[in-house]
Amino acid sequence: MTMVKREEEMLVVSDLHVSFGERKVLDGISFEIRKNEICGLLGPNGSGKSTLLGAVAGVGKKDKGEVFAEGLALSATSRRAVARRVAVVPQQTVFTMPFTVLETVLMGRFPAVGRFGKISADDIETARRALKMVDLEGFDDRLVTELSGGESQRVAIARALAQETNILLLDEPASALDPRHALSVYGLLREKRREGSAILIALHDINSALQWCDRIFFLKNGRLFDVRKPEQVDTLLLAAIFDVSWTIYPLPDGGSVAFPRA
Ligand code: ADP
Ligand code: MG
Repeated sequence: MTMVKREEEMLVVSDLHVSFGERKVLDGISFEIRKNEICGLLGPNGSGKSTLLGAVAGVGKKDKGEVFAEGLALSATSRRAVARRVAVVPQQTVFTMPFTVLETVLMGRFPAVGRFGKISADDIETARRALKMVDLEGFDDRLVTELSGGESQRVAIARALAQETNILLLDEPASALDPRHALSVYGLLREKRREGSAILIALHDINSALQWCDRIFFLKNGRLFDVRKPEQVDTLLLAAIFDVSWTIYPLPDGGSVAFPRA
């Protein structure tokens, strides 16, 4: 199997296995994400969400399995060709090199520009547009080592947006963001979905998943325990995943919220 049959299947993950030493963290994970779809990856701390995103993006450990991005098998693809298709926002962005904000976001253009290519005025325009999208206009010359956690997270999101890929992987993208910026980032992802992107967001917060995702992948003991649409999520499933009791309340304008119970 090297080609994906259906074009709508933007991202296909097939039988992914990852172990660290004796510990199996991912034990045969398979799923696909279509065009115009936002999927959430949910599970408790340590369930393997970040490991999965890293393996899918080709930057983390992968012992077995294959990932297809827009029909292309990633194991047979150069790092740069992968980066033209898949952009990643890591879980925690702590910048250690004193680049400016604009320089950092421009790094998202490297896969498109190529090794001997030159950053063009268009690339700078793309980077500035991405910065504006995350409300960091005017931050161009600030050093990334001197930003707050939330500002750093928005720089990482802007860098991924500047990559202009059709597949986006985000690891807890709103964890450091205030409500206004969190809403704005999820709004951006909706916009990318409308434009045809396939998006996977790792989350530990069930309510973000209920609010923003089309389908939710539930991870447990290294396996995909269940895949559900938000309206199909019930207290039984949440208890099985998180080992606490839950109450789910319907919202007056549709959707629902879930609370863990003591
Ligand atoms: P999550 O993102 O769901 O909180 P992670 O994917 O970060 O979980 O981690 C899954 C498990 O794998 C954890 O138990 C973690 O300690 C372990 N793990 C992750 N990366 C490594 C590594 N590089 N070496 C050893 N163990 C790791
Ligand atoms: Mg994680």
